[in-house]
Amino acid sequence: MRLGKHVRNMTPVMSDQPVIYLDAQSTTPCDPRVVEVMAPFASENFGNPASRTHAYGWEADRAVEAARTQIARGIGADPREIVFTSGATEANNLAIFGLFRASSGARRDWVTCRIEHRSVLDPVGALAKEGANVRSVGVDRNGRIDLDALRDAITDQTLGVSVMHVNNEIGVIQPIQEIAALAKRHGAIFHSDAAQSVGKLPLGVNELGVDLLSISAHKLYGPKGIGALYVRRKQPPISLRPLILGGGHERGLRSGTLATPLCVGFGHAVELAISEQDIDTARISNLSQRLLAQLLAKLPDVELNGAREGRLPGNLNLSFLGVEAEALLLSLPEVALSTGAACTSAKRESSHVLRALGLNDARTQSAVRFGIGRFTTETEIDVVTERVIVEVERMRARHGRR
Ligand SMILES: *Cc1c(COP(=O)(O)O)cnc(C)c1O
Repeated sequence: MRLGKHVRNMTPVMSDQPVIYLDAQSTTPCDPRVVEVMAPFASENFGNPASRTHAYGWEADRAVEAARTQIARGIGADPREIVFTSGATEANNLAIFGLFRASSGARRDWVTCRIEHRSVLDPVGALAKEGANVRSVGVDRNGRIDLDALRDAITDQTLGVSVMHVNNEIGVIQPIQEIAALAKRHGAIFHSDAAQSVGKLPLGVNELGVDLLSISAHKLYGPKGIGALYVRRKQPPISLRPLILGGGHERGLRSGTLATPLCVGFGHAVELAISEQDIDTARISNLSQRLLAQLLAKLPDVELNGAREGRLPGNLNLSFLGVEAEALLLSLPEVALSTGAACTSAKRESSHVLRALGLNDARTQSAVRFGIGRFTTETEIDVVTERVIVEVERMRARHGRR
């Protein structure tokens, strides 16, 4: 039985008994306050922000620029450094192909990390076909990048270094400042995919030393279909070749009429995430500690994947040894959980991230990701804990484990 089919069959049940959402790394619900500010721009304020000849256009443009300022402020950037995209996938593609195609010089090589999101690994992989020498650096058992290997990988031929801030499967935070310093030492441009960290960790582009930074609105309680690429303007100015040509919107870097409601929602979502970051972090940390403590107290042979310290609190990636993760999720239709990256869950292969940590099959095939977010409640955590314990015990008993 496939999960997708099962979920469709559950639809009538879902309407009277909501499925508990614990998959905050794959997406987050749009905050109702965000939906509220978006609404007028989906109806009466429908102007094209590029229209310069009337009030509809001026009003839309004003709203888009206000959102750009909110996003820039959220990451310590200048509004002119924010390029709206359709999401972090497009931002990653623009950063990688855009930089590669804009560079005329001798530098062509790229350095990345083995646990990057597919939207970084695939574009970087494509550069290899265009003649770049690509090196992919490994991680330790905790999921942290091997800085010695990174030091060896970056050379004076390196054009770009792409290393994510927070991993979407295991929540581990990478030492971005150190990585940025290593890139800078060799004159390489540093790109970081921050889809999982913007709004959730204190983050300033200058403090971190990044040149290009990818953001996604729907990971921070904003709408789907929008994101941004931060492109440094000074020290050094970064020039990119656009992927989408047309009217020359977004300073020529991304043509096409901006989605005003999405921009407005994105801006407000960033502002909320920054202003409520401490409250969210404290709540989410409590809930995740509660979930972990209860599971560890009741179940033997549960392992946390990725570092215990230096991780985002909303992510718990746990292996229930002796249990097939996919089967466990199927036995829990009232909970929305994942085994890892949403984009690869259609393929039946173990996670490239968990494999990069050097975990064995027993560990990778029993791994479940619990994603706790702004709207998760204590009751939900307790219900899920109980249900997981029951199902893990039942499945282990059936396999004669205990
Ligand atoms: C979700 C995610 C992406 C893709 O973002 P979209 O806005 O959905 O395109 C890229 N990288 C990471 C780390 C993510 O978590």
